[in-house]
Amino acid sequence: MSRGEPVAIVGAGIAGLTAALCFARKGIPAEIFEQAAVLSEAGAGLQLSPNATRILTRLGLLPRLEQVWSEPEAINLVSGTSLRTIASVPSGPFARDRWKAPYGVLHRADLQKNLLDAVDANPLCRLHLGIQTDDPARDSIARILSKRPRLVVGADGVWSKIRNRIEGAGKATFSGNVARRLTLGEADAPAVFDSMKVTAFLGGGSHLVAYPLPKTRSFNVVAITGGRNPSEALEDRTPPQEDARQRLLDAFSSWHPQIIDMLRDAAEPTIWPLHEVSDGAWYQGEEVVLIGDAAHAMMPFAAQGAAMAIEDAFELASFVADGRPLAAFADHRKSRVARVRSRGAFNRFAYHARGPVRIGRDLVLSLRRPESLAADFDWLYGYEPRD
Ligand SMILES: Cc1cc2nc3c(=O)[nH]c(=O)nc-3n(C[C@H](O)[C@H](O)[C@H](O)COP(=O)(O)OP(=O)(O)OC[C@H]3O[C@@H](n4cnc5c(N)ncnc54)[C@H](O)[C@@H]3O)c2cc1C
Repeated sequence: MSRGEPVAIVGAGIAGLTAALCFARKGIPAEIFEQAAVLSEAGAGLQLSPNATRILTRLGLLPRLEQVWSEPEAINLVSGTSLRTIASVPSGPFARDRWKAPYGVLHRADLQKNLLDAVDANPLCRLHLGIQTDDPARDSIARILSKRPRLVVGADGVWSKIRNRIEGAGKATFSGNVARRLTLGEADAPAVFDSMKVTAFLGGGSHLVAYPLPKTRSFNVVAITGGRNPSEALEDRTPPQEDARQRLLDAFSSWHPQIIDMLRDAAEPTIWPLHEVSDGAWYQGEEVVLIGDAAHAMMPFAAQGAAMAIEDAFELASFVADGRPLAAFADHRKSRVARVRSRGAFNRFAYHARGPVRIGRDLVLSLRRPESLAADFDWLYGYEPRD
């Protein structure tokens, strides 16, 4: 049963598509405006932690996601130089048991397809492709819809235009780190890559994460290092092959030969300068609100950006359906996001540690039992969103 005027959602990424399904679940129609004429996802993987999959399960997506993802047995921290395992957090059935939801890894395109199929099948959701919406004024959206939306949701990513229209909103800034992403066939992967695990290899000033993408029998690899400022780094998107490769090899020169060989022989990685959105206002009156990267783009050190977008979407629909003010939504979500950001900042410090800090880190972690390491994630993965 439809509950009145629709919400207008700008952006059909993970935040926008999930938000449409969450509003529809509450009986609120959702009109999604996406600038791209066709939705396509860059070829990269995604870790979906239990706090995100709990919500996707409530949206009815789990059975289909289970067909395209794998549930790793563990998340391992491994020394990038010696390849010794420093710590291991159990996952797989352990995650389902402890956090009451699975931990999955998959190709982004598979998550997007599942969200899109669910949106297409839902009579309360409508996707408008090829429409760039820079103006959150309800009247300008009303001209397209021929009715006035009750709310405009800015889910338009780190470079959000909707954010520019919110007084006191945060700004996107370069984080000083650059990610390089590539996909590697199982046959080309170094022996240390484990198809049953998410492995974070740690080294001074850089780290590298590898996990399996079961559908394509490949590994998703993300290498994160310090990098140059955005304008210079953006020029690096189409660099002479050898320069980009050489810079990557330089950053990993003290690493184990298995990793160096892999980086030397793999296909050219895609370069992503990493930007963050600083803290600022998320809403304007009761008319416009931001979710996902538009509100709080964060570094991928805790692998939580998409998970936070999914939580935002679910909780926003709940607050709106209950007639609560946007200020209440923003307060509620900001404290959660701040805690996740600090966890990411801690991981950044710990993952890239050098010298004595690194020795201390390895010692402390190696003394902890897997269950005790898992308990550190209860607040994050066990989160029960407001429904
Ligand atoms: C290297 C890396 C690894 C990561 N790994 C993980 C991970 O493992 N787990 C995790 O949870 N997160 C991860 N993240 C974070 C995650 O990818 C993002 O937080 C998430 O994709 C953000 O989704 P979004 O929908 O908010 O934004 P986006 O995906 O950027 O979507 C925004 C959409 O809005 C559209 N749009 C923009 N402007 C307009 C406009 N004016 N009008 C209409 N449409 C518009 C865009 O075309 C796009 O479709 C990672 C990020 C990086 C960089």
